[in-house]
Amino acid sequence: MSHSKSQTIDVALGERSYPVWIGRGLLDDHARWRSTLRGRHALIISNRTVAPLYLERVARGLEGLRWSSFLLEDGEAHKTFQNVGLALDALATLGATRDACVIALGGGVVGDLAGFTAACWMRGIDFIQMPTTLLSMVDSSVGGKTGVNLPAGKNLVGAFHQPRAVIADIGTLDSLPDREYRAGLAEIIKGAAIGDADLFTWLEQHATALNAREETALIQAIAAKVRYKAGVVALDETEQGERALLNLGHTFGHALETAGHYTALLHGEGVAVGILLAARLSERLGMSASGDTERLERLLKAVSLPTTVPAGFDPDQLLALMRLDKKNIAGTLRLILWRGIGRAEIVAGVNEADVLAVLRDATR
Ligand code: NAD
Ligand code: MG
Repeated sequence: MSHSKSQTIDVALGERSYPVWIGRGLLDDHARWRSTLRGRHALIISNRTVAPLYLERVARGLEGLRWSSFLLEDGEAHKTFQNVGLALDALATLGATRDACVIALGGGVVGDLAGFTAACWMRGIDFIQMPTTLLSMVDSSVGGKTGVNLPAGKNLVGAFHQPRAVIADIGTLDSLPDREYRAGLAEIIKGAAIGDADLFTWLEQHATALNAREETALIQAIAAKVRYKAGVVALDETEQGERALLNLGHTFGHALETAGHYTALLHGEGVAVGILLAARLSERLGMSASGDTERLERLLKAVSLPTTVPAGFDPDQLLALMRLDKKNIAGTLRLILWRGIGRAEIVAGVNEADVLAVLRDATR
């Protein structure tokens, strides 16, 4: 890996290609990101936690344009259809034309809702992502999945709509709470576990630097994960195949998040436990060696991510929740498992008794 202080990754999608810029101070690099705006109108979508910290710096880059902002209350509960409606009203009030741009300033909640708003207004206008959480920098801002939740479930409504650019100013991470930071590290580890064994080894060597949020290491880790995800998205933009591998650990993880009523575990924490359970199940099925499971567990522990199912969770209830996963086909479990570090694969027809055994071991 190179050692420069800022990095650019290109997401190669033909005419929908875009750059991901990663570095410190990019929000103030107006000349760079302003050039991606084509029209005279911009709507900044952010939330009440992030806006007081960073909106002013973005607004300074919009001088001479007609712009306004739409702020969400903080939290997953506000990633709703109703708020998309209100954001669209804000575009209408602004008099936004087809060349307007939506700017998403915040974490994945803001980015998903802002992207979907941009996909809807006049059947699709530009948007740019300014992710401010580690998770949104390495995961949700890249790849064009946008959407909102319904009372019936998470992310049930959405569209594929790629951003024009992603501006990941790692300076914004200075204010990010520790738990949120670690949840982002889980998504980096996940990417390495799925398809980048070199990154996995690098993460093992740089766990201490990442814990200290050391800047060079952080930029390299973000860039490596974005490069990996960009490659997968370029091959399979709308998840017909390969892109599904990015969900390693998510069937376990979602069951854990749901069982914890979305408060016991952050998504990234659920993913951390989930990828470890997927590794254990793979080992049980004879697909992978115990040494790989052990390395994964050690790395998760090294960055203080959870590696056990929280006390009080019921294995049978978790299995019941896993049966509801979107990836399942015709009543049989379909999971992302692995053949070892960097080699994930989709496995259909997984035996429920094996899943239950792994869940029971993990709750003991
Ligand atoms: P989030 O957007 O809720 O942000 C986490 C918390 O950090 C929030 O309280 C937020 O206000 C706060 N915050 C954000 N930036 C901050 C900063 N710089 N300083 C201080 N506080 C800050 O959560 P997230 O983890 O970023 O994203 C989760 C969302 O992303 C979920 O809705 C999930 O469905 C979605 N997601 C989407 C994709 C995709 O491909 N579109 C992928 C993964 C996750
Ligand atoms: Mg995820």
